[in-house]
Amino acid sequence: MIRLYLKSGRERPVHNGHPWIFSGAVESVEGDAEAVGVADVFDCKKNWLARGLYNPKSQIRVRLLTWREETIDRDFFARRIAQALKLRQDFLSTTTNAYRLINGEGDFLPGLIVDRYADFLVCQFFTAGLELFKDDIVAALSALEFVHGIFEKSEGRVRDEEGLGPSAGVLASPEPPDLIPIEENSFKFLVDVRRGQKTGFFLDQRDSRAFLATVARGRTVLDCFSYSGAFSLYALGGGAKEVITLDSSRPALELAEKILALNGFPDGGELLKGDAFAYLKECGRTFDVIVLDPPSLAHRRSDVAAATGGYKFLNLHALRHLNPGGLLLTFSCSQHLSIDLFQKVVFGAAVDTGRKASVVKRLGQPIDHPVSLHHPEAEYLKGLALRVLD
Ligand code: SAH
Repeated sequence: MIRLYLKSGRERPVHNGHPWIFSGAVESVEGDAEAVGVADVFDCKKNWLARGLYNPKSQIRVRLLTWREETIDRDFFARRIAQALKLRQDFLSTTTNAYRLINGEGDFLPGLIVDRYADFLVCQFFTAGLELFKDDIVAALSALEFVHGIFEKSEGRVRDEEGLGPSAGVLASPEPPDLIPIEENSFKFLVDVRRGQKTGFFLDQRDSRAFLATVARGRTVLDCFSYSGAFSLYALGGGAKEVITLDSSRPALELAEKILALNGFPDGGELLKGDAFAYLKECGRTFDVIVLDPPSLAHRRSDVAAATGGYKFLNLHALRHLNPGGLLLTFSCSQHLSIDLFQKVVFGAAVDTGRKASVVKRLGQPIDHPVSLHHPEAEYLKGLALRVLD
């Protein structure tokens, strides 16, 4: 076991439950300081504080798993997984069989994402420490009664920073089908875990889609950045009069078409392949409701200033194309853009259009995307439902 001693005064965040220890807080390391493994963390007076996974190559030297002296093994992961599952089973609708089962730090399993799509799980292992326990985690997940097969789709910047490449494929047979049928609030979807974006579906917008269904009746709706048309489907299910579904990805729109037909909307409005920035600027008509759900425009903290320009452009042109009394559902999934800054950007857009708007609802991550109170920076998705006056 690795023993890691913090510099004087650097124990406060650990006491407070923050899950990360950065390299700058470390005074010394005893044991095999070059190896990835389980580490005990001590303050400068050699008091035991917490236990986690150590990676000498990462700026985040330790990701903490527990503040108790418990063994990190298959049983530990099984206990954490059981707690995460209970949250979802207790509070999610029984007409939903797709959700994020493990949301990293929010479920006290830093670096691990597990999405459930009906009988299949899709895992993302983001850290070298978790790679050591992959077999244990897969075994613990396989033991859940609904699990048929487990697929891996680990990729992205965090893995690069951990010194890992991408890794994808079957972790526990059988292989998932090309399209996994799932249900969300009784709506039917098809999820392409291999070729789709992220793990195949944007589970994090479930509550906002449900809100859209409640305000769509009799209205014209534009779903910008639609991916597989999930907002559009809820709008149609909620009785929208007309829906336009817009995305730049042809495969996403082809999937949207299949999904709309599967739910009894074979003529579910117009599917448009195009750039949402250009469409919003140039389109020659107005809507009662516009949804703006762009991909993250700021991947790093240093991108935030440039990204605010993109968000302002989108919101400004969306506000211009709303009918009097219309609704804008606008989102940012950039972790580095705070809700305060996002709201300021949207405010700036409204001022420039000369329109007046009020916030009628704040939107955000659903219950299966919990955010640790001790790690609030993990809250990435923020949304505002705005109503324009006239
Ligand atoms: N609203 C979706 C998720 C959106 S993800 C849902 O609820 O499932 C972001 C989407 O934006 C992706 O499908 C991506 O293909 C699309 N996209 C990215 N850049 C775009 C652009 N410039 N114009 C239109 N769509 C774009």
